[in-house]
Amino acid sequence: KTFEDAFQRYPLILEQIYNQQFEKPSPIQCQAWPILMQGKDLIGIAQTGTGKTLAFLLPALIHIDNQPVPRSQRNGPSALVLSPTRELAQQIETEVNKINYRGIRREQLEKVKSGVEIVVATPGRLNDFMMNGIIHVKHVTYLVMDEADRMLDLGFELEIKKVMLDIRPDRQTVMTSATWPPAVQEMADRYMTDPYKVFV
Ligand code: AMP
Repeated sequence: KTFEDAFQRYPLILEQIYNQQFEKPSPIQCQAWPILMQGKDLIGIAQTGTGKTLAFLLPALIHIDNQPVPRSQRNGPSALVLSPTRELAQQIETEVNKINYRGIRREQLEKVKSGVEIVVATPGRLNDFMMNGIIHVKHVTYLVMDEADRMLDLGFELEIKKVMLDIRPDRQTVMTSATWPPAVQEMADRYMTDPYKVFV
């Protein structure tokens, strides 16, 4: 499997990958990209360091680019990444910032403006921002729950539930988790639709 297999129709994405000088897609990327590019839900049981972030991020950027609403008329992000900690959220932000794909607008939650297209946040802070009317998630159609097991360990179950009430049920959903205990399985059952599951 090559990067070209996954993103043949997206030369600008390939360009961004080449810039980073990776040799080849990682195992989770090989498995995840075709599934995510078809719009299917995916659970990736994968540790940090496997390339899981780009596995869900590149399809997210393409998803944003393919939105039917013209960019000037979009208000509110179409992609949302939930992360267990602000530290991980910042690492994901860094990965987003390395990929300059069609100038997709991303901001740290602190700097959210109208026009932002991808948001990376912990469930706690996202709820605060939603309650204050600083951000809404009603146009989110691509949702990532990164490190779901850690989010549950950190007690974010209720905060996640509250966010989900506002997100359209016909979204595409991606979950990553290092482990696959019953609590994470239940969360997948609740929030995902016929997900593919890959272990790496
Ligand atoms: P992650 O598993 O997302 O935490 O990624 C760990 C690191 O692997 C990050 O620094 C990425 O830039 C890097 N990475 C992602 N994809 C690849 C790849 N295909 N080949 C080599 N390194 C990669």
